[in-house]
Amino acid sequence: MTGRAVHVVGGGLAGLSAALALADGGQRVTLYEAGPQAGGRCRSYFDRELGCVVDNGNHLLLSGNRAAFAYVDRIGARETLGGPGEPFFPFLDARSGERWTVRPSGGRLPWWIFSRARRVPGTRPLDYLSLLRLRFSRSGATVASVLPHGALYERLLEPLAIAALNTRPEAGLASLLGAVVRETLMQGGDACVPWFPRASLAASLVDPALDALNAAGATVRLGQRVAALRITGNRVAEIATPAGPIQVAQGEAVVLAVPPSVAADLVPGLRAPTAFEAILNVHFRAEADGARAGFVGLIGGVAEWVFAKPGHVSVTISAANRMVDQPAESIAAAAWPDVCAAFGLSGPMPAWRVVKEKRATFAATAEQERLRPAAGSGLVNLTLAGDWTATGLPGTIEGAIRSGRTAAELLLHAA
Ligand SMILES: Cc1cc2nc3c(=O)[nH]c(=O)nc-3n(C[C@H](O)[C@H](O)[C@H](O)COP(=O)(O)OP(=O)(O)OC[C@H]3O[C@@H](n4cnc5c(N)ncnc54)[C@H](O)[C@@H]3O)c2cc1C
Repeated sequence: MTGRAVHVVGGGLAGLSAALALADGGQRVTLYEAGPQAGGRCRSYFDRELGCVVDNGNHLLLSGNRAAFAYVDRIGARETLGGPGEPFFPFLDARSGERWTVRPSGGRLPWWIFSRARRVPGTRPLDYLSLLRLRFSRSGATVASVLPHGALYERLLEPLAIAALNTRPEAGLASLLGAVVRETLMQGGDACVPWFPRASLAASLVDPALDALNAAGATVRLGQRVAALRITGNRVAEIATPAGPIQVAQGEAVVLAVPPSVAADLVPGLRAPTAFEAILNVHFRAEADGARAGFVGLIGGVAEWVFAKPGHVSVTISAANRMVDQPAESIAAAAWPDVCAAFGLSGPMPAWRVVKEKRATFAATAEQERLRPAAGSGLVNLTLAGDWTATGLPGTIEGAIRSGRTAAELLLHAA
């Protein structure tokens, strides 16, 4: 390999995506990850209590997530993803028991909104024009202030906003939801097919990436927490790792793909988001038939999305700062009736595990949006990556992977 050395710090999806793009671009890549495994906020592990592999949290992709699918294809992991194979979103109102399925039509012409069987019950075709308000919202406007409140809001747009922004709509930025909607729902059903890992996040998004990096000649160093960057003049000159200092020679470069608080510690004067929202996941040892979709969206329950997984059933509760300090047992007990309703289960609560991700994503508010830096750091040989950088998207897999590619492209073009 003849390219220059590039040091990627952080082995979440942003770092993995940057490392792959750089290795594919002919650079000599070394990736330093603090933890014992790569993946960051996309982690899987064997849970002894449940007797199966669980993810730190359920992750859903939509087919319109172009960078994410390019990454999945690059690492050869398309077959590890499952889902209904078409735009198909089953919902249950946990209060009334009413069920419906939203089924956007393929192609950009949204004829599904004229079909009662496909659109949200209680809505009219004209209601869907309100989506355009996201596009033309004034800067800083919140989702709740822009969208009219009615059946479409309560039964589709509010749950979509909470899932995509991980922030309550009263505080969540309309423009960030608008970016998601523009790349998915507005593109038609072909961009709205839900996909999720059949077995685990690690098997779909992390392990195949490590294999691909290995095959491309990159070096991955786990358990290597970078404690400091020595900055001389306008460049990074040294990286402090537990294995000793790594010199960054003239012409070599660094991609910093760590969480915002770590990046702000490592780079003096860097502006980065400071407020976060939690996501709670509750895994139950239970077998459920996920039917066609493999998941159900809940309205008016404690659980928001319930997934049928191998050997367990798993609940997601987003924008969960309001609940994160509650005892795990009471969170599990509150979610179990929703799981039973979603998948037709009954009986006492089985073995469970609550995973609290306190800093699941930055809070998608106007104030935090202003703190997101661009990929160029101001230092000549340092670029930034991470879902919290200024991707124009909320904190998502698509944003993380896109940010890694952007950081890599900046360095490749500068080379
Ligand atoms: C529970 C949960 C559910 C989610 N659901 C969805 C979803 O359904 N769809 C979706 O699109 N997105 C979802 N997300 C968001 C998605 O997981 C993140 O946007 C994405 O994983 C962020 O990747 P990243 O690489 O930017 O950051 P991270 O994953 O945080 O990666 C940063 C990495 O840097 C490492 N690191 C930290 N400090 C150092 C150091 N000093 N030296 C070296 N390495 C260091 C960390 O260990 C970590 O591996 C969810 C997130 C959570 C937590």
